[in-house]
Amino acid sequence: MRIRLLGTAAAEGWPALFCRCPHCRRAREAGGRSLRSRASANVDGIFQFDFGPDSQHHVLGGNDLSAVEHLIFTHSHTDHLYPGDLAMRVPPYAHGQDRPLSVYGNDRVVARLGAALGDVTRLGLELHQIEPFQAVAVGDATLVPLIADHDRHETCLIHLFGHEGRWLLYGHDTGYLPETTWAFLGTWAAAGGRLDVAFLDCTNGPGEGMRFHMGLGGGARVRERLLDLGAARGDTRFVLTHFSHNGGLLHEELVERAGPLGFEVAYDGMEIQAL
Ligand SMILES: [Zn+2]
Ligand SMILES: [Zn+2]
Ligand SMILES: [Zn+2]
Repeated sequence: MRIRLLGTAAAEGWPALFCRCPHCRRAREAGGRSLRSRASANVDGIFQFDFGPDSQHHVLGGNDLSAVEHLIFTHSHTDHLYPGDLAMRVPPYAHGQDRPLSVYGNDRVVARLGAALGDVTRLGLELHQIEPFQAVAVGDATLVPLIADHDRHETCLIHLFGHEGRWLLYGHDTGYLPETTWAFLGTWAAAGGRLDVAFLDCTNGPGEGMRFHMGLGGGARVRERLLDLGAARGDTRFVLTHFSHNGGLLHEELVERAGPLGFEVAYDGMEIQAL
């Protein structure tokens, strides 16, 4: 399994669009890995998690969207779902695109896509509404949506995803995981399930918040419990992502703080292989 993190920022990006705060100013000066676009990830070339407003920026960075066959959404917030760009799949905006794109999302994602795009079949989109804890086949991969603690008005999802014998947890835009999700992970681990890679929410940076988003402290607690359950083991890679300027730590500062806690720090364009 090859994972490419296309974007690693929270909703406003970093530097944030209109911001004059010291953390955005420092990021502009530092450049490099401290510059972050809105969160999204590609897996094995044909799977993608989320499709936000920076998708064309990710194409400039080398993401071949024309090859993606399965698009999996976490929730309907604007940094994760930007329906207008899905209208770009047909002429005169795209040529030679004759493959359908299967789209998986909760009820809100499906409704938003329908409201924004009308008849989605003319765009070659096949919509699939997914439900928490109900495994679905996504091509030759397996997707199990789990419940996040993120927005009371929506069933926000994080995803357990298995392809070619490897498993990842796509786990951002959540606070400390709900007990229903822990119960599922416990059963999964007892049946032999083990994560190769876990992506966790670090929107708050060094902040200690545990609801709706997390920081280093929340991430460390989730990591410990995954290890205790046996859902993760010593060689599982834990990667923090979805950073906000309000957390304040630039990339290298995050690396310094997160490393001793057992975490890698994501950056735009980071590639991870679990083979
Ligand atoms: Zn987000
Ligand atoms: Zn800022
Ligand atoms: Zn969100």
